[in-house]
Amino acid sequence: MSKSKSAETVKVVVRCRPMNEKERVAKFERVVAVDVKLGQILVRNPREASSSDHPKVFTFDSVYDWNSKQIDLYDETFRPLVDSVLLGFNGTIFAYGQTGTGKTYTMEGVRNDIERRGVIPNSFEHIFTHISRSQNQQYLVRASYLEIYQEEIKDLLSKDQTRRLELRERPDTGVYVKDLSSFVTKSVREIEHVMNVGNQNRSVGATNMNEHSSRSHAIFVITVECSELDADGENHIRVGKLNLVDLAGSERQTKTGAQGERLKEATKINLSLSALGNVISSLVDGRSSHIPYRDSKLTRLLQDSLGGNARTVMVANIGPASYNVEETLTTLRYSNRAKNIKNKPRINEDPKDALLREFQEEIARLKEQLQKRSGKKKKRRQRRRDGSDGEDLEDGETEDDGEDGDDKGDYWREQQEKLERERKAIMEDHSLVAEEKVLLLKEKEKKMEDLKKEREVGEMLTAKVKAMESKLLVGGKNIVDHTNEQQKMLELRRQEIAEQKRREREMQQQMDCRDEETLELKETYSSLQQEVDIKTKKLKKLFAKLQAVKAEIHDIQEAHINERQELEQTQNELTRDLKLKHLIIENFIPSEEKNKIVNRAYFDEEDEYWKMKPITRIEDDHQMMTRPLSAVGYRRPLSHHARMAMMMRPDMRYKAENIMMLDMDLPARTTKEYQEPVIAPKVAAALESALRDEDEIQVDASGFHSSLGSTSPAGASLKKPKSGRPRTGKKSSTPTSPFSPSSPGSPLYPQSRGLVPK
Ligand code: ADP
Ligand code: MG
Repeated sequence: MSKSKSAETVKVVVRCRPMNEKERVAKFERVVAVDVKLGQILVRNPREASSSDHPKVFTFDSVYDWNSKQIDLYDETFRPLVDSVLLGFNGTIFAYGQTGTGKTYTMEGVRNDIERRGVIPNSFEHIFTHISRSQNQQYLVRASYLEIYQEEIKDLLSKDQTRRLELRERPDTGVYVKDLSSFVTKSVREIEHVMNVGNQNRSVGATNMNEHSSRSHAIFVITVECSELDADGENHIRVGKLNLVDLAGSERQTKTGAQGERLKEATKINLSLSALGNVISSLVDGRSSHIPYRDSKLTRLLQDSLGGNARTVMVANIGPASYNVEETLTTLRYSNRAKNIKNKPRINEDPKDALLREFQEEIARLKEQLQKRSGKKKKRRQRRRDGSDGEDLEDGETEDDGEDGDDKGDYWREQQEKLERERKAIMEDHSLVAEEKVLLLKEKEKKMEDLKKEREVGEMLTAKVKAMESKLLVGGKNIVDHTNEQQKMLELRRQEIAEQKRREREMQQQMDCRDEETLELKETYSSLQQEVDIKTKKLKKLFAKLQAVKAEIHDIQEAHINERQELEQTQNELTRDLKLKHLIIENFIPSEEKNKIVNRAYFDEEDEYWKMKPITRIEDDHQMMTRPLSAVGYRRPLSHHARMAMMMRPDMRYKAENIMMLDMDLPARTTKEYQEPVIAPKVAAALESALRDEDEIQVDASGFHSSLGSTSPAGASLKKPKSGRPRTGKKSSTPTSPFSPSSPGSPLYPQSRGLVPK
């Protein structure tokens, strides 16, 4: 396959959507005219009186009006690009324009509607049809889906939707997204499913899908790997990557008077689109050697598509109504510049990271493993059959695969049956002792187990090989199909027509350009008057042209001024924000803490992010441990006095280590010995008697009762409560106390005591 190395420009097409219901009801004027044949867009600015006579004209590779069909766009503009992806080129299609002008309609369109489905579903169909028609080729198709929102990359196919991915760069493959998941897909249905899953993740959290999509860029990536044997029987792999990009709305988000979080968001969106504009400008400029790809994630990811190894088509979407004229003009100017970007696409042949190669190698390895296993089996079997010691090994190994496959099942059955038979024989053999039997049976069982395991491993390997092989797509199945053949022809014709149209348009454009020059050359003047007339006419024409150019310059200047004002406004807002943060830092954060943080902060070039060094600096610690070589002698600096004293006195104090010898300086005692308190003899006696009485209070209730009944004066035991019983002390001191000797008659008893006589 010949490798195209020649530069080619980015292809820019413009599509104007129809007036929507709202615009029709409000009776907005249509200010956009589309000349499909000439590939021109004409815009009248209703605010400028002169513009009705001299509309602004923009010429593009092709233009599509409101009647354009999705399939027309696909066949004319996108099909050739996808075809080259199938050949191993990188390709990018991106849709640019104001929100609501049909970017998503162009890229995705209406799902499940063949007529109105967009580029992405059409490319699915295209790719898989191509594969099914191919011959002697193996394909592997993968899909990824990501979103850039507020300068953060989100993998729309990952389970963890909170994770943010990072960009990395490798010299051989360029910029890529680290850890981006990709799914191998085998059919249109599967890849559609991948897209649907991604779309669902995209709209989660967004209350209004269009609002969210107007603030984020979505990139669907299809990687097609194809392996083919060349004439020398060598296997070559070509890898084509197709990026399908639905950009954020190009209108200035700051216009909406956003604040806080919204302002930050708007600033970032504007930033990435401005970065895209700057990249385009500096690519077209030709003088600038530095292309600011690194200014945003979007431009870094699209680095290859803009001025690199890729074919690129840009679709600029515009609306036809008058109230959008400013945005329409901006979009047209923007895309007009992109026309001049030169890319250098080439076929990616045998890249190191081709997944297809890995798959092929893995399949080969597994197959070899399987082969070895079946080889071993056969050897064993052969040996058994011949009863020889393996002289026939070679025979067994040279058996062909077909036979091997056929009697594989037989082999397992045979083995199993044999083992079963042997087991039965052991069971029935009465000559064996029970223990021996058990042992032999165990052995057999183990063998059976091994056999089963071996079989399982074999089956697993086969299944693995099958699963991997099923992922590799091969075509040529329905190549003889008649309708298929016709369809192919039809497509070819359509392509030819599209090509013809393109050429016609180009010629027309060139002709228009040269018209004036040729006229001028051929003109001969018969008289002076005629010459004057003709030249006056020409002058008028040129003057009109001059005016148009002047107006254009004026417009562009105005647009620049507007843009600058907006940027200045954004800058002011950001400066205000920054000032506030400075104020907070200065007033609420101690300066040494601030310095510590400032010292720890560093800029990570790879991630383009400020980061903090960890607090424990192990490497630095290590450096601190080793003394510099220049520091001979003492470990620490010593004062002159210390050095002198060291020499003069034997005292340890001034030794090199600065050790000071000191006695222990014990502190004064602050406690006293314990001394028992002195108790007055009276108190001691009272206490003693009280303690003694307490023992005797455990009186037998019955004895107590009878003694009461006889009204005999209290015995020794009855007197006790008087002095003892500290808790009833109060009552016992009263004259009503039942134990009081002064009340010998019917005494009062405390109820709670339960001592009432019956
Ligand atoms: P964007 O993605 O640029 O914000 P959309 O693709 O969501 O815009 O389009 C906005 C609306 O306009 C949608 O309802 C879409 O169906 C409609 N629309 C856009 N372009 C066309 C077109 N060429 N033909 C018919 N309808 C269109
Ligand atoms: Mg959209």
